[in-house]
Amino acid sequence: MNVSHRRVEADAVVAVGSNLGDRAAIFAAAVRALAEADGVELTAISTPIETVAVRPEGEDPEAPAYLNGVVLIRTTLAPHALLRLLNDIERENGRVRGERWGDRTLDLDIVDYAGMQSSSEDLTLPHPRAHERTFVLRPWAEVAPEAELPGHGRVVDLLAALEAGR
Ligand code: ATP
Ligand code: MG
Ligand code: MG
Repeated sequence: MNVSHRRVEADAVVAVGSNLGDRAAIFAAAVRALAEADGVELTAISTPIETVAVRPEGEDPEAPAYLNGVVLIRTTLAPHALLRLLNDIERENGRVRGERWGDRTLDLDIVDYAGMQSSSEDLTLPHPRAHERTFVLRPWAEVAPEAELPGHGRVVDLLAALEAGR
């Protein structure tokens, strides 16, 4: 029997953040690494925006500011394989894991993977804090105005609510 193994493609949203080193160059290197990875095709890249760093105790204007953005991809990688790829790209770009929400050369998070809602020890989908982060929602709304964050609603509505509450 001739069984064909056509791998299914999923749409996913990756958040990019950098607040150490040459942020623009690191942002560009991360996008390039994603574009060149096996099983990944870029479909959109947001404009990088500068944002105030967030620490566990709140916004910190004294900390180096971030460049944040999102990249939309289509991928044949399963969610955990995509997470491993993102961790590899972080490492190649000098990411060292220290204190929670500490300064970093590169953070790559899976915001959404094909609308999936799931949780395992090392991967929660959608990203559990994306709905409260303007630095994720604003660039996402730019490249996908119709997008929805699973379990939370439309990205543009979430963004408007956060901006109104400021
Ligand atoms: P935050 O998750 O609040 O954005 P962070 O990105 O700084 O914080 P990291 O140190 O990059 O946190 O990652 C901590 C762990 O989060 C990783 O080891 C990873 O396994 C886990 N994780 C869970 N869900 C996700 C997700 N959707 N995307 C990326 N990492 C995730
Ligand atoms: Mg993060
Ligand atoms: Mg992360």
